[in-house]
Amino acid sequence: MSTSTRDEEPATSAESPGRPSNFVRDIILDDLKTNKYTGRVHTRFPPEPNGYLHIGHAKSICLNFGLAAEFGGKTNLRFDDTNPEKEEQEYVDSIITDARWLGANWEDRMFYASDYFDQLHAWAVQLIKAGKAYVDDLGAEEVRKYRGSLTEPGVESPYRNRSVEENLDLFERMRQGEFPDGSRILRAKIDMESPNLNLRDPVMYRILHASHHRTGDKWCIYPMYDFAHGQSDSLEQITHSICTLEFEDHRPLYNWFIQQLGIFPSQQIEFDRLNLTYTLLSKRKLLQLVQEGRVRGWDDPRMPTISGIRRRGYTPQAIRNFCAAIGVSKTNGIIDLAMLEHFVREDLNKQAPRAMVVLRPLRVVIDNYPEGQVEELEVVNNPEDASAGTRRVPFARVLYIEQDDFRLDPPKKFFRLSPGHEVRLRGGYFITCTNVVKDERTGEVVGVHCTYDPATRSGNAPDNRKVKATIHWVSAQHAIDAEVRIYENLFTNEDPGQVPEGQDFTVNLNPNSLEILTNAKLEPSLATAKLGDRYQFERLGYFCADLDSKPGALVFNRTVPLRDTWAKIEKRQQESR
Ligand code: ATP
Ligand code: MG
Repeated sequence: MSTSTRDEEPATSAESPGRPSNFVRDIILDDLKTNKYTGRVHTRFPPEPNGYLHIGHAKSICLNFGLAAEFGGKTNLRFDDTNPEKEEQEYVDSIITDARWLGANWEDRMFYASDYFDQLHAWAVQLIKAGKAYVDDLGAEEVRKYRGSLTEPGVESPYRNRSVEENLDLFERMRQGEFPDGSRILRAKIDMESPNLNLRDPVMYRILHASHHRTGDKWCIYPMYDFAHGQSDSLEQITHSICTLEFEDHRPLYNWFIQQLGIFPSQQIEFDRLNLTYTLLSKRKLLQLVQEGRVRGWDDPRMPTISGIRRRGYTPQAIRNFCAAIGVSKTNGIIDLAMLEHFVREDLNKQAPRAMVVLRPLRVVIDNYPEGQVEELEVVNNPEDASAGTRRVPFARVLYIEQDDFRLDPPKKFFRLSPGHEVRLRGGYFITCTNVVKDERTGEVVGVHCTYDPATRSGNAPDNRKVKATIHWVSAQHAIDAEVRIYENLFTNEDPGQVPEGQDFTVNLNPNSLEILTNAKLEPSLATAKLGDRYQFERLGYFCADLDSKPGALVFNRTVPLRDTWAKIEKRQQESR
């Protein structure tokens, strides 16, 4: 994907000064004051390569990379790849691309939990030798039963008091591949009666005869996430291990491992997950959409994945601005999707050149314009940016306008084109509708005849008469054909995770989330549009050239329509204050 220079600005450094604080930042400030980590700030972003990154991950990336950058620290990228059954190189590659695109810079610090498999294994042996871990022969079902519940204490496994020698022998034989999957586990020996379920002898290692995308067939036992994550942080000397709230109850376990092993005490801090209306941010569910063909792939522009919203036309700057605006907290909430779209519009409004495009064309003939004549009208490239200059668009006798901009029987307050009414064309002339052409069979209007007033080329009438609407248009003989894809929310309800008993979340999919318009007419300057180029199509919204676009067969995505419901909500709130 081609990126403009704007896309390659560093993520966050310039955005730091004067930034409103948050509780994570405050903890770091305190630690710096007390010199807790000798003034170091070292964070990490730890994705599991079992899917593509989504907008929730962007929040974590902005937080981790942003805070470290602000305090002159470092951030590692670390793949938490402890589950070979679900992890793939494709995901590793996409995560690298997407995190970079967002502006994350980990320099040469890209790591994998699988880099630490030898060390983790040695630590497991160390804990066995210290009498702090044991091999359990209970099956998964029994382990669950013995664990108890929030209201009931757990029960100790009959295998809990095996000797160190027996444990060492069994663990070694687990590693050698002597036992089938699921037949034995290695557990930490902590406290089956702990009120925290994570401390009731959690599983450290399981048997899994599966090839790993990096270590191949070297291992047939794999560490659990809970036995890998905290120690990976320690090995990398991470000072502030920032993660989402559901890991709050795991913190005592990570601290227990740190204590028992006497390793670097990374400090875990939990923040709220991003949830968005009309959006699901679960890799498992996103994978299901891809696998069932409900979307065209992980990078379908309707997906909340980074690759999806990039393809849709969102900018990294807009995403960073959004993440900065939502901040972090200690309680999970839900953010209005309109707020994200607001930041996309705000950024695109500043940078996207304007263009005239007709999505659903209606043919207009200007009867009093000389046949064969062409002139060029000058239009502004971006009213928000004077330096963007102007361009010339060809004007001729036959034009296309939007079907929506014409009504045979205009309702009250419809000021656009209708029989006998005059409107302004963007960039120039006034035209008046004199007649319509109907399809003989259906009665549908298939064309419109107009006259133009040659004295209104400047966009104003010499007699100062007013028109109430300005519409966009494209000269028919100069128009370029294109496909335009219009996206709506992927789900019809605000909380698509809410599903009636016995049904799947896919019942909430919006059947109209993709509309393909194959007959769009573009002004000729768009002929050279390249992948990733972004425009405001006048009066319609922001659009970008799609991955499928080729010279001569252009395809555009609608990024967002123009109407900014979030800005309206904000304004109303400000007024009521
Ligand atoms: P999912 O539920 O989508 O599979 P995950 O937490 O299992 O998400 P990871 O790959 O483990 O996905 O996430 C990497 C990092 O991104 C973690 O630190 C995680 O806390 C963070 N993260 C994931 N989802 C969100 C979210 N919705 N909001 C904020 N941070 C998130
Ligand atoms: Mg995870």
